[in-house]
Amino acid sequence: MNKTAVKLKQTTCPYCGVGCGIDVKVDGQALTQVTGSSEHPANYGRLCVKGSSVLETNDVSGRLLQPMIGDSQVSWDEAINHVASGFNKVIEEFGPQAVAFYVSGQLLTEDYYVANKLMKGYIGSANIDTNSRLCMSSAVAGYKRAFGSDTVPCNYEDLEDTDLLVLTGSNAAWTHPVLFQRMERAKLLNPDMKVVVIDPRQSATTELADLHIAIKPGSDVALFNGLLNYLHQHDCIDQNYVNSFTEGFETALANSQQWTIERVAEYCDLPLEQVTTYYQWFAKSPTAITFYCMGVNQSSQGTDKCNAIINCHLATGKVGKKGSGPFSITGQPNAMGGREVGGLANMLAAHMDIGNPQHREYVQTFWRSPRIPEQVGSKAVDMFAKVKSGEIKAIWIMATNPVVSLPNGNEVAQALKDCPLVVVSDCNENTDTSEWANVRLPATGWSEKNGTVTNSERRISRQRGIMPPSGQAKHDWQIICDVAKAMGFASGFKFGHPAEIFDEHARLSGYENNGSRDFDITGLAGLSEAEYDKLRPIQWPVNRENPNGCARMFENGRFYTKSGKAQFITTEAKAPVQQTCKDYPFVCNSGRVRDQWHTMTRTGKAAKLTAHVSEAFVAIHPADAEKLNLVDGQIAQLTSKFGRALLRVQLDAGQRKGDVFVPMHWNKQFASQANINRLFAPVVDPISGQPELKHAAVAIEAYQAD
Ligand code: SF4
Repeated sequence: MNKTAVKLKQTTCPYCGVGCGIDVKVDGQALTQVTGSSEHPANYGRLCVKGSSVLETNDVSGRLLQPMIGDSQVSWDEAINHVASGFNKVIEEFGPQAVAFYVSGQLLTEDYYVANKLMKGYIGSANIDTNSRLCMSSAVAGYKRAFGSDTVPCNYEDLEDTDLLVLTGSNAAWTHPVLFQRMERAKLLNPDMKVVVIDPRQSATTELADLHIAIKPGSDVALFNGLLNYLHQHDCIDQNYVNSFTEGFETALANSQQWTIERVAEYCDLPLEQVTTYYQWFAKSPTAITFYCMGVNQSSQGTDKCNAIINCHLATGKVGKKGSGPFSITGQPNAMGGREVGGLANMLAAHMDIGNPQHREYVQTFWRSPRIPEQVGSKAVDMFAKVKSGEIKAIWIMATNPVVSLPNGNEVAQALKDCPLVVVSDCNENTDTSEWANVRLPATGWSEKNGTVTNSERRISRQRGIMPPSGQAKHDWQIICDVAKAMGFASGFKFGHPAEIFDEHARLSGYENNGSRDFDITGLAGLSEAEYDKLRPIQWPVNRENPNGCARMFENGRFYTKSGKAQFITTEAKAPVQQTCKDYPFVCNSGRVRDQWHTMTRTGKAAKLTAHVSEAFVAIHPADAEKLNLVDGQIAQLTSKFGRALLRVQLDAGQRKGDVFVPMHWNKQFASQANINRLFAPVVDPISGQPELKHAAVAIEAYQAD
């Protein structure tokens, strides 16, 4: 009997920032089974339901399989030349600021690297930004202000080795399930470990909490400033750490002293005992992790919220220690990789800054590129505003669906409709965004892509190409290099394999003034294709000092600021921008459900995943519903100053009165009226540019069909 050999391939999950390793059984041409990689340090064999269902979303249905200009199938040559000449024409006529790339945390690091190189080094604009702007840019800005670098100090083992775990702005049980499983197990093994969850609503995560603090939405800075004040009042400051390794403590403390426990309780609308208990636990715990995600970051003062958290850790020396630290978690599988290569409008490659002339000169010289921008580019929300105003006339959107995920989605769609040149490269045939594309380019999907991703604990892992590309799909890095060459930039884009791009990325990280930067992976430069293929998960930095990577940063108390000391940042509590009023009396908070990912373009294909929550909904407190004459299961209309959504009413006593919760996933294919980001204002944090997607003012009423 002729039997094909069954092989096992190791890769990574395409969904969240936990970055779990996946073993895929390959039987001939078929992928037959996935299991968690027992050796991968992110998950040690575990997978959540999204990861374990990845094969159900991996077929060719709904895939874009050939290049399209308008409704016509074209050859790759035609498509590439059309895109290149279109971009060149706009640049010649209106300059490099008139074009933009909007990229994605779904791209692999190698894809990101060449996109950033083309825009910044060759086109000469910094108009490249990423949908990761929507999930973690406030955390980046917070780390940079405090540490002088975008450095996550902790690792996943710290979550299991702590006395106090504070989860704030995170429903990890649903959004980062494998990490949550690790937290559950840690608490089971150590019943003395305390868990505090700070979240306006009850969630699957609050079930693990010893203390749930149902904070008034947007009042977080006051809570953390109050903690700093409490620590000082109760003689719990680690004065030796503060004196030796930090600056700015006295000013931050003076600013916090107005925040007595009583005032915090009133401002944050909390019982006094809850605030007191949290503060006592933080003060007394030898170690503490504050684990934060989009509930903190997606705010008009997201950066200040992050720094208010970091201040409390610095004040108690709970940084750079086992089981301690301010731990920002990324939403997307490669949000961290995008940060590394400078895929943000305000960064250069390898964590270097556009605003630093030496960094600009180094990167341009290394690339031998004709130019480098001196000014930062347009961040995500601003970028689409410029498309709308006509300032940007050509945009290339890669592997993302901004019409659903950006705030003020109606305006984003209108902007793309009116834009002279919209290019979308995606593995999906039809998305809410590609509907407005002049050119659609078929990109490879998860099981076909080959490169690296970096997870939330700085761990670089291989995502391995298991299947050949479907149809005529090409890898994103190939498409970008082909367009670059057709634009006349052949010399910088002669890559034949992602290992060559990774090598250049690793070498670039070896800036000689490297002592002033955290990101250094020169220890991974020069890998052959075979070595690159075998690369095992490793945490950066990887260099002469850390040949096997580095699990925890700042253990020596040295930071990447000019003085080498961490900075306390003075933060003021401010209300969210969109306030409720007579016409829009409810606060609308957005988030995720357990079994869907982003805008459902992939997870929406798996029956097993859609079975968990089959429809978009609005969760509302029963008392509020009663006042509005709404009953469970009926359709409600939510309106804001910016748009409208129709959602099924779900009575939920875990909601605060006056607040509602809506999931963000549903796209036009599944429920055309359930795109909830249309309700949100295009309001951003002034430092990070991250939009305020946790706070809209809305009106709710029973929906009457016309
Ligand atoms: Fe994938 Fe995240 Fe689930 Fe891990 S926790 S399997 S990375 S979705």
